[in-house]
Amino acid sequence: MTSMSYPYCAGNDPMPFDSSDLLSLCKRRGFIWPSYEIYGGVAGMFDYGPLGCVLKNNIVEAWRSIYKSREGFIEIDSETVNPVAVFKASGHVDQFSDLMTYCKECKEPFRADHLAKGHHENPDILTPKQLEDLFVKNNIKCPECKGELGPVEDFNLMFKTTIGPGSSRIGYLRPETAQGIFVNYLNLYRYNREKLPLGVIQTGRGYRNEIAPRQGMIRMREFNMMEVELFVDPDNKDWDRFPEIENEKMTLIPQDGREITLTVGEAVGKGVIVNRVLAYFVYTTQQLLMKLGLDPARIRFRQHLSDEMAHYAADCWDAEALLSYGWTEITGIADRGCWDLSRHSEFSGVDMTHFRRFDEPREVEMDVVKAKHKALGPKFKGKAKDIAAAIESKQPKDVVNNMITIPADSETMQLGDEFFEVVRIKEKISGERVIPHVIEPSYGLDRIFYSILEHAYSYDEKDDYVTLRLRPGVAPIKVGVFPLMDKDGLDVLSLSVYEGLQMSGIESYYDTSGAIGRRYARMDEIGTPWCITVDYESVEKGKNNGTVTIRDRDTREQKRIKIDDVNSVIKELLAGKGFGTL
Ligand code: AMP
Repeated sequence: MTSMSYPYCAGNDPMPFDSSDLLSLCKRRGFIWPSYEIYGGVAGMFDYGPLGCVLKNNIVEAWRSIYKSREGFIEIDSETVNPVAVFKASGHVDQFSDLMTYCKECKEPFRADHLAKGHHENPDILTPKQLEDLFVKNNIKCPECKGELGPVEDFNLMFKTTIGPGSSRIGYLRPETAQGIFVNYLNLYRYNREKLPLGVIQTGRGYRNEIAPRQGMIRMREFNMMEVELFVDPDNKDWDRFPEIENEKMTLIPQDGREITLTVGEAVGKGVIVNRVLAYFVYTTQQLLMKLGLDPARIRFRQHLSDEMAHYAADCWDAEALLSYGWTEITGIADRGCWDLSRHSEFSGVDMTHFRRFDEPREVEMDVVKAKHKALGPKFKGKAKDIAAAIESKQPKDVVNNMITIPADSETMQLGDEFFEVVRIKEKISGERVIPHVIEPSYGLDRIFYSILEHAYSYDEKDDYVTLRLRPGVAPIKVGVFPLMDKDGLDVLSLSVYEGLQMSGIESYYDTSGAIGRRYARMDEIGTPWCITVDYESVEKGKNNGTVTIRDRDTREQKRIKIDDVNSVIKELLAGKGFGTL
């Protein structure tokens, strides 16, 4: 294969691409390193090296520029260790588990549903017993040693810890950043002057004690997320900017499994995506992934099947990228309904509603509990007034068997219906309280990072030459600066060019070692879009005095520009000006 760009397969086949080539480049050039390697490493854990850190930060900045700068969302940074109450309410303590089996011989753990792949259409939905039966029926053995598999059981994926000494205060490392936003809802709502929509973003680590992570950065035990929680009025699932994007196209795979290309407007009009706000953020996700340089032909949006979707979700779409591992979820975009706030409200006892103000006050009929003052007075004398107030703070649903229970001193008191009545009244109200619904685009930062690298990787077999065609905006190094020779003043001049770029915030790399071709190759391999070389013409008398060459990574074209213009030319290129127009 001699083409400069790497071919990919459409459809469901993984690409003929060996991820180990890319992973070894990442390791060699300082993008990512397996963690704790000197102690043999830990599966599913990676450290970001110097280039990886910059690329990762650039991804976060692109995400911020959409959600914070364009959409006006606010950002928070919450704790990663949470008390058990948070995850009891969210459902993670009881439900956040995968099914696991062990090999009885070599003791290797496996995800039971992964071993069932190829033997069942959707192993995700099988119970432990069904999986055990499937293993027996299909004679499925340990993939490592062919030993017999043990029972299938639930394994909760959260890392458990204690908060403070002793074991009584159980805490968990958060498996997602979202809960930190939900538990801060009231603070955020007040900050937003009690208005909806309220968009909040958070980036940070999530921790999942994955059973058997074997897919590089795709399944990590400690990973990075960029999460967005948008609180909306349940009766107003629209977005002001929707008309700007309604004619844009997306590749969708709805629940029937047929791949279709629709405009965003059509997707909502035909009922493929449940509402305009969810559709807007599915499309926003496409915009972000394109901006980051993912190949449009290797991105699609797949709707969760009904047995895959959380029971409370109104709709859920995964952004999937075609990688060497096959189609892989890199972002989930869901309409989570009122689940998150109603659960935290229920478990904490705190009101997490929004006051929806009507345009005009409305007259409504409602049932209320009224105290019978004539009966209360003689019986309770001086306390009658307080008791009447306690009665009237109750609602009709609090009346059980014609009795009502109210607080009294440090205890409670039960009163019969000789002291109260339920009456229908008409009242003017200016609004009502509703539980906001949540639209959640949840981005897996590491998976996006890895997808960017795979989609940018291009190998020329003839020359055995690797180019990472990273978008300039995300490339960790924007400019390589080289003196042709490390002497004769070329070194001094190129150092000053390098320093000028660095000082104006343009990440650059100064390299004096080896032949110039090798230096270009090193920059191409890490995705540096442009290289500047100071040569003898730069310093000698003549028409090129005071100029340098600038080389474009993708076309390898070279031009001469003035040294004084270097910073402004790079800024223009970064802003999207074509190299050919220089
Ligand atoms: P989820 O909350 O499971 O929908 O996850 C949100 C996003 O986080 C997914 O779309 C993935 O991109 C990413 N993600 C989930 N689990 C992992 C993991 N173990 N390692 C790396 N990324 C993950």
